[in-house]
Amino acid sequence: MPDGHAHAGGQPGQPGRPEEAGRRAELEANLSRVRDRIRRAAEAAGRDDEPHLIVVTKFHPASDVRLLAGLGVTEVGENRDQEASAKAAELEDLGLTWHFIGQLQTNKAKSVARYADAVHSVDRASLASALGKAVAAQGRIRPLDCLVQVNLAQGAAPGRGGALPAEVQPLADLIAGTPGLRFAGLMAVAPLGEEPAPAFGRLAEIAGDVRERHPGATMLSAGMSQDLEEAVAAGATHLRIGTDVLGRRRTVR
Ligand SMILES: *Cc1c(COP(=O)(O)O)cnc(C)c1O
Repeated sequence: MPDGHAHAGGQPGQPGRPEEAGRRAELEANLSRVRDRIRRAAEAAGRDDEPHLIVVTKFHPASDVRLLAGLGVTEVGENRDQEASAKAAELEDLGLTWHFIGQLQTNKAKSVARYADAVHSVDRASLASALGKAVAAQGRIRPLDCLVQVNLAQGAAPGRGGALPAEVQPLADLIAGTPGLRFAGLMAVAPLGEEPAPAFGRLAEIAGDVRERHPGATMLSAGMSQDLEEAVAAGATHLRIGTDVLGRRRTVR
């Protein structure tokens, strides 16, 4: 990058990249606020475990993910294969855990299985089968953790993706019976137009039922920037936080 007059307000001649130091400080402050909120919510809920923080880095550059890793973040979430696969390749040296959390087309299963440690958004049998085939073809050593995404919308409310509650158990059984996949638990996004607490309560209830048949499926992925407290109260083990760590997503493309 040409380095001529781009230092307005910075320190000319210093290679320390002041704008990166500024971004690092911003991310550090945001992270610390979010971690405090999680700790307080866990305490208020009388939990002695601390939920995992997955920082959702979609729409933010790989350079931000690198800064986050330097600040102790070990788990990141992405929702589009094209963006996620490029970042995972560029940041391979960091040893991060990659969570795929977005709607997934069956024809992208092969790509996602290459870099993802967990897929939170399994919502139909055809996707579970495609992921199973992809893992088998790649000879992956560790099984791919798969969560069933549950649609928590009620009545005529618009859904935000996921299998209907009645479809969860058969889908869980299918994943558990697919070599190369591990049924890890459930994921949901709070429905629009309803308080998150009762919706997460329903999710926790479904999770309890599913664990009777699949006791190892202990992951409960729920809670975003706006509703992490309610999710922690409902027993979420994995929180997916984007905006409150990274700031607003730029809406480029
Ligand atoms: C973007 C996204 C998040 C993060 O949401 P924020 O409100 O930015 O914290 C969490 N879960 C899913 C499925 C997402 O797509």
